[in-house]
Amino acid sequence: MSIVYTVRADSLQAPPLARLIDLPLGLDIWQVKADHVVLRAAEEQALRLRQMGYTTEEVVGTDDHLATFATAEAIAAYHSAETLEQDLRQLAESQPEIAELREIGRSLEDRPIWALRIGERRASEHKLLFMGCHHAREWVSVEVPYLLAEHLVNNADQPPVRQWLQRGEIWVAPMVNPDGHEFSRNQDRLWRKNRRTNFDGSIGVDPNRNYGYMWGTLNISTSSHVPSDPTYVGPRAFSEPETQAVRNLVASELFRGVITYHSFSQLILYPWGYTSQPIPNASDLSTMKKLAKRMQQLILGVHGITYTPQQSSQLY
Ligand SMILES: [Zn+2]
Repeated sequence: MSIVYTVRADSLQAPPLARLIDLPLGLDIWQVKADHVVLRAAEEQALRLRQMGYTTEEVVGTDDHLATFATAEAIAAYHSAETLEQDLRQLAESQPEIAELREIGRSLEDRPIWALRIGERRASEHKLLFMGCHHAREWVSVEVPYLLAEHLVNNADQPPVRQWLQRGEIWVAPMVNPDGHEFSRNQDRLWRKNRRTNFDGSIGVDPNRNYGYMWGTLNISTSSHVPSDPTYVGPRAFSEPETQAVRNLVASELFRGVITYHSFSQLILYPWGYTSQPIPNASDLSTMKKLAKRMQQLILGVHGITYTPQQSSQLY
């Protein structure tokens, strides 16, 4: 039985809080702030942390936490891999001139990974890709890109969507990790990785850590080489069929931009994650920062919630 803890490094003998993320303890880290870290851990793991000098404060038992939102009613409100396929198919069939459903690959358990291509022309130069659900438990990260696809298809005749679809293509792949998603619906609500059986018998690779560029550069608990960790990077770059599917799509379509949705904290992350060095090209960096700022303003305008733009490495 795991518990959600707030961990601080208040006492004199405590190691720096930052060292927490270097620990090979398989902690499920939920939030990293300047003065505390929120994580999910077994009681023995929390005891280890206290022995090291950290203070741990119980926030809530994981089961109690889950009982507040993982109800049958809530589960029914989200897509499963199967209902997502049905709804994407229906969207494509409702506007066949502009929308086309593509299977971009198959998961380890042989579930199709779908992408909806939306746009008037094929092989346009202006192509964007939106993805969701690298992390199985982040269910709303399926719904946001799905609703984006629905909005684009249903408003294809109206400005400004019409102009976007005349000028370019928008690809939407709402569920990159269907096996993990299914497992989080039926077995373990907090499942995060895919369903790979690793060499040590543990299950799952974090697909979000399995991409090729600078793969495996870090070995810390938020990007781990320990197979049983929730952030396991996998045995090698692109070892997983789910990331291979995305790689192959990106290689053939050469997108101008990619956004992937997660549902962890209120952040807008831009490159890079593997290093704390900023993007070296000043104009690229300024483009990223401006985009992130604009997204922040738009989100604030709709929801009144301030998302923080930052370089990915600040989270990882
Ligand atoms: Zn995530």
